[in-house]
Amino acid sequence: MILYDKSLNMKFHDYGIMLPIADNRARRVLEHLGIDETSVYTLDTVRAIYGFPQGITEEDIGRVHSARHTESLFRDEQSLKEALLACYELVDEDGRLNRYEPKHAKKPLTDIFKTILLQNFGSYSACRLALRGGNTHFNAKNFCFYLGGGNHHARYNEGSGFCLMNDSIIAARKLQAEGSASLIWIIDVDAHKGDGCAELVNILRKQGDLSAERGDDILTLSVHMAGGWPLDIEHLKRSLRENSMNYAPFAPSDLDIPIAEGEEELYLPLLSEGLLKLERLSSKRADIAIVIDGDDPYIKDELPSASLLKLSLEQMLQRDRHIFDFLQDRGIPSAWFMAGGYGDNAWEPVAYFLKSIMRF
Ligand SMILES: [Zn+2]
Repeated sequence: MILYDKSLNMKFHDYGIMLPIADNRARRVLEHLGIDETSVYTLDTVRAIYGFPQGITEEDIGRVHSARHTESLFRDEQSLKEALLACYELVDEDGRLNRYEPKHAKKPLTDIFKTILLQNFGSYSACRLALRGGNTHFNAKNFCFYLGGGNHHARYNEGSGFCLMNDSIIAARKLQAEGSASLIWIIDVDAHKGDGCAELVNILRKQGDLSAERGDDILTLSVHMAGGWPLDIEHLKRSLRENSMNYAPFAPSDLDIPIAEGEEELYLPLLSEGLLKLERLSSKRADIAIVIDGDDPYIKDELPSASLLKLSLEQMLQRDRHIFDFLQDRGIPSAWFMAGGYGDNAWEPVAYFLKSIMRF
């Protein structure tokens, strides 16, 4: 099934945030599949099925992020605004505005938080739909593709890389808290390392909130560019300056698979090996896998910071089909988040993958 909701469109320019993110990606995927917007799951459908009146709450966020970060989002307008300015990098190191034009904004910056909360609710809802099963469009069991989500850079203490809150870990911890799942896999194939997820899982384990012995755990696999943001040298220097061993970009995932520039032909064999290792690391079959299915490894992606990895459309399709078949063969439910993907062609890999599993 597909989860998509028009209300989740971020409309950055309405808030004066001048990011080059095409907001028609989800719609173009649906057009390519020939699926009408009225036949997909929306947040209202989810509310009707489950009756979640509150969506994602402060408690859900506090289960994952530090008290300092969580409180900054709910305390007052000013603290929320500061968290947003930092997360979207709207002020540079010299204190000047960066790709932020408040005078062109139609709405106050802090209004975007409502949409971010809804997006996080979408990620959690996609997991619930995957666990519920049933499928109208695809030859798949317990599968939900969410045309949104994947904010994998959000860290314990702060938002980062346009990700204010870590929707994947928030969803995973909420599922565990309500008893819907205990062992959860995060399979992250966005071009950029899933640094926020890695840091959060390490901290949650240290705090005893996750425990392999108890059985409620989150295992992280990240396949990503070996260099470039967030693993670049500037970050490393800052990390050393701050003397922070926990600095998110360098926090290890349970399985990290860095792909060096020009080694695209190794991508699929290494991914395949990584999935088998993930299975061996697990004490039992995962209750659900969250797939952070970024499209920015695609050769036609237009984000400069994703240019060190260049997979062809065929390789992108093989990547997704491999993960899909691996999970389906083992009967593991999966919620897929669209994550990164920039420019006019960012819709293509998602659309081609979903078309390949469509039921006709
Ligand atoms: Zn990315």
